[in-house]
Amino acid sequence: MKKETPLLEVKQLQTFFHTESGIVKSVDGVSFDIKKGETVAIVGESGCGKSVTSFSIMGLVSSPGKIEGGNIFFEEEDLTKIPEKRMRELRGNQISMIFQEPLSSLNPVFKVGEQISESLILHQKLSKREAKIKSIEMLKKVGIPRPDQVYSNYPHSLSGGMRQRVMIAMALSCNPKLLIADEPTTALDVTIQSQILHLIKSLSEEYNTSIILITHDLGVVAEIADKVIVMYAGQVVEEADVFTLFENPKHPYTKGLLNSTPNINEMKENLESIKGMVPTPREMPKGCRFHPRCPAAMKVCVTHAPQLEEVADENFVRCWLYEDKEALPHAGNC
Ligand code: SF4
Repeated sequence: MKKETPLLEVKQLQTFFHTESGIVKSVDGVSFDIKKGETVAIVGESGCGKSVTSFSIMGLVSSPGKIEGGNIFFEEEDLTKIPEKRMRELRGNQISMIFQEPLSSLNPVFKVGEQISESLILHQKLSKREAKIKSIEMLKKVGIPRPDQVYSNYPHSLSGGMRQRVMIAMALSCNPKLLIADEPTTALDVTIQSQILHLIKSLSEEYNTSIILITHDLGVVAEIADKVIVMYAGQVVEEADVFTLFENPKHPYTKGLLNSTPNINEMKENLESIKGMVPTPREMPKGCRFHPRCPAAMKVCVTHAPQLEEVADENFVRCWLYEDKEALPHAGNC
């Protein structure tokens, strides 16, 4: 059977930062794809490269950062090769983003309704009046009470949860094909978090929007993701559908993340944290980048870097444990 063409295909993406003290390889050979309507979570500790990956897709990596290699195909158009003018047409229209702190992305001097209307006028070529009607409709859709009144409010007069709803209304107003949500609920309290997540999920289903969800919270992943990409030190270390990842995690880092997360259904009494620290990009360990923290490390892991390999259907792992022992470099040392 012919495979469905993905909406987004990231291939061997490399995004580096050129600093005075050297090159920081924040994203180093990342590949994954997203189908139409699919929700893909990218998880990992701070500094693993998940946000830089999403900024690379949005074309928002600023100096001293630069995409140095690889491709990002969006409906077969390579975003790494298109001019900024074309990227601006796509951004906020076909590709939208929700950030962790809406106050930093909402302009404090404009009314919230005007900010939603602006992108409708710019990208959808609606008249001012049509844009206002559509904006109020979107505010209603994201569960804002008295939307016609809120249209004329300034961002600071709304609660954190309401501001995040406004951001979602703004992000979905142009009916994007891809929505990138970067830690969209971290700044909110727990009950509001769940409401916002379900709102994002139900609206994306209604509009058939694909989602990239950037998060460090595996509870959030379990609630809404279809597929999970685990990143460590600028690389993908595991990719699996959400059930496989929770039922049968393979990479020792994925197992560590799950062991340090309160179980969704039963509270674990002794949560274990992953020992050690994420390496800084300037002091990347040789061999497997996780080896200084890995409870299963072998000699080969210290000297040779494993590749991302498909170990089961659509389940990819970067770990020597899943290689044929005979095929390991210096297998005799393991
Ligand atoms: Fe651990 Fe080795 Fe696998 Fe790396 S390759 S995760 S060090 S077992």
